[in-house]
Amino acid sequence: MRFLILLLPSLLAAQNYDVVLRGGRVMDPESGLDAVRSVGIRGNKIAAISTSPLRGRVEIDAASLVVAPGFIDLHQHSQTPEAYRYKAMDGVTTALELEAGVSPVSAWYTAREGKALINFGASSGHIPARMAVMHDSGTLLPRDAAMNRVATAEEQKAIEAAVAKGLDEGGLGMGMGITYTPTAGPDEILSLFYLAARFKRPVFVHIRAGDVVTSMQEVVTDAAAAGVPLHIVHINSAATAKTPQALRIFDGVRARGLDVTTEAYPYTASMTEIASAAYNGWESRPAEDFARLLWPPTGERLTRESFLRYRRQGGFVAQFGNTEEMIRMVLAHPNVMVASDGIIENGIGHPRAVGTYARVLGKYVREDKALSLMDAIRKSSLLPAQRLEAISSRMRQKGRLKVGADADICVFDPARVIDKATFQNAAQYSEGFRYVLVEGAFVVREGKLQEGVAPGQGIRAQ
Ligand SMILES: [Zn+2]
Repeated sequence: MRFLILLLPSLLAAQNYDVVLRGGRVMDPESGLDAVRSVGIRGNKIAAISTSPLRGRVEIDAASLVVAPGFIDLHQHSQTPEAYRYKAMDGVTTALELEAGVSPVSAWYTAREGKALINFGASSGHIPARMAVMHDSGTLLPRDAAMNRVATAEEQKAIEAAVAKGLDEGGLGMGMGITYTPTAGPDEILSLFYLAARFKRPVFVHIRAGDVVTSMQEVVTDAAAAGVPLHIVHINSAATAKTPQALRIFDGVRARGLDVTTEAYPYTASMTEIASAAYNGWESRPAEDFARLLWPPTGERLTRESFLRYRRQGGFVAQFGNTEEMIRMVLAHPNVMVASDGIIENGIGHPRAVGTYARVLGKYVREDKALSLMDAIRKSSLLPAQRLEAISSRMRQKGRLKVGADADICVFDPARVIDKATFQNAAQYSEGFRYVLVEGAFVVREGKLQEGVAPGQGIRAQ
């Protein structure tokens, strides 16, 4: 009897994990751990990482699978239940809309609270604030007033007030797409950097159209003058053939101590709204330029005639403008994060919304050997978490696989993981992610999405 009483607590303790991921290749980019371990999860936290067997209510055999921190996507426009399903099947446990941002911020979070498959968050967006104040008719991006007209002094004040309100409400930084608001001149942009500085928040920016060197100079100078952290979105499509020059500036300003980060997505084509400022002046382009454009709903390549028709109609267009060589170069750079710039609606969009992370792991790590598996994991989890941890304490517990960290975890087969989404048919889930957990709850199990679960939490500045 006495023996049993002594034994009972240890038996209970041995079984008190909710979930055990047994014997996987555990990879943690922060500590460098890359070894076979069992992971014990209790509630929404990682409670044990052990060489000896652990017991849990649910035990998953993770042998021959990689167990990594769930991926954190800093650049995900589509923030819908549909989009979150694609993200989860691509290993993403947190998807944030930081480039365009949102406005108003509070209502955006409230609409997703308790309903989201994965963690979500947004910056306070200059673009949506400018569109609202200037009465632009666009949806994600400006297509008339906020694109074509210079803001009056009163309008600029109203725009800044809306952005400030969003920062006050917990926006994760300030979102800017200068290329889409070409009538916002250098003064208006610099003034917004000073505003972000008042709140000590980073600025996430799609740099101005035109020469990448000049455009980087503008935002780097503004960030240095205002003293704010700067994140330049998708250096791949911003720089294309001038990627070496752009990376040299990036390395240089970091070496001089400026807090500047950047990201890339693993595709040679970009995508944006055909009615946006990105296509201003295209009417007079030579005929061959239109053949670089692809219209996702039909898969057709464009002509001048169809371009003009679709520009009046509106919608997202893909543009083939980069090379594999440049994509490999940005992905191999140790400090360039992976982020998707995901856009997908009713199954139509850019494959990057669906397959970015599987493509990095399958094509660029396994097949092309452009970067190591640990580097790919680091760029997809730890680096994005570190970008945000000074303004959101929750991010200190994400992007890592360690005891005490949030149980946001992806488990994938490194020999099989691959993207399936294409430009003709983006609505095809990635393959190879066997299990994905958000806050300790399965959202993908045995390769299948879980129905009726909503463990995703809002990530705010706090
Ligand atoms: Zn974007």
